[in-house]
Amino acid sequence: MTNLVYLDNNATTKIDERVLESMMPYFKEEYANPSSMYNFSKNSSDAIKQARTKVRDFVNAKDEKEIFFTSCGSESANMAIRGVLNYNKNKKHIITSKVEHPCVLNLYQALEKQGYKVDYIGVNSNGELDLEELNEAINDDTALVSIMYANNENGIINPIEKISEIIKSKNKDTKFFVDAVQAAGKIPIDVQATGVDLLSISGHKFHAPKGIGALYVNSKTMITPLIIGGHQERGKRAGTENTPYIVGLGKAVELAQEGLKYELTEVKRLRDKLETNIINKVYNARLNTGIATNRVPNTTNIGFEYIEGELILLHLSDIGICASSGSACTSGSLEPSHVLRAMNVPFTAIHGSIRFSLSRFTTEKEIDYVIEKLPPIIEKVRSISPYQKELEQLKQLRG
Ligand code: PLP
Repeated sequence: MTNLVYLDNNATTKIDERVLESMMPYFKEEYANPSSMYNFSKNSSDAIKQARTKVRDFVNAKDEKEIFFTSCGSESANMAIRGVLNYNKNKKHIITSKVEHPCVLNLYQALEKQGYKVDYIGVNSNGELDLEELNEAINDDTALVSIMYANNENGIINPIEKISEIIKSKNKDTKFFVDAVQAAGKIPIDVQATGVDLLSISGHKFHAPKGIGALYVNSKTMITPLIIGGHQERGKRAGTENTPYIVGLGKAVELAQEGLKYELTEVKRLRDKLETNIINKVYNARLNTGIATNRVPNTTNIGFEYIEGELILLHLSDIGICASSGSACTSGSLEPSHVLRAMNVPFTAIHGSIRFSLSRFTTEKEIDYVIEKLPPIIEKVRSISPYQKELEQLKQLRG
């Protein structure tokens, strides 16, 4: 097989042809500024309205006025976090988890330098959030809690409804922001049932193009805008609307909603087949999350002891297989992943951990190809590892 086997869908996804098709008229003939007064702009403004309704339905918001279009997941997170804090300047305590995406974690670290007191909640060895620690951290001064829906590196799903209950029972004025970038399109999202105040999504993680995101802000939550200018997005995010991309996001959420059942059954089946086979075929391969955890259906993170993940990735890349050794933003650096470190993954496996993330376009043939090709690659890379004695002991232990 010489084709590409793309198993890095948590980094970004292929654009769906139907999404691209829906966008094309708004690059060509329907180029009007949606805010203009003449009839020509009506198709553009109607298309944006329809896309907003589709996103509202996708997250089950009450009102389309609670949906704001942005350029990406990182912008949505910044708009939510800075927006809430700038509106409530008297409160200086904020909470997040140790395993958030850098767009939240690095922002929190910057806020710490500006005088905010930050609590970073830990996770257990499966990557599950310590709810007791969260409960104890919330106090009268807590302005905001930011916890991701699903983790980009290990796929662990946080119990959002339970977290929401904990927060509101300790301080009903504390706002709850959920980064749902890795949950959208993989599991159902319902902002009303889960009681979140703000929630972000990003189109390029579910087959829309890069450069479009959205933020849900419930009608009771006030935010100060980041981008000040024109009246667009009800004054909360100025800038002429990116009509084609907004239309594309609308189509992508519609397709994601229709495809949820497939994600939860077929994509999960292929993911399970991949991880079970790899763990059975390669001695001392460890599923970093443990098997019984609540995970999004497309993600697996497997640690191969005593070798470098980057070397595995290079060998995979040579035969057309794309995977990742951490989140896309941190690859390129040899720093061990902050997520795996927070989970206390043993030092011997942390550097040799690989994330495979599937999508609705992943085929059985591709998974079979990886199952066939990966074990000999691991053997080959291990044969030049400086830890031969340790590897031999592990092999014998395994029998
Ligand atoms: N949040 C999570 C959990 C992510 O995985 C990512 C991207 O990898 C982002 C936020 C950032 O999204 P974007 O690339 O659209 O800025």
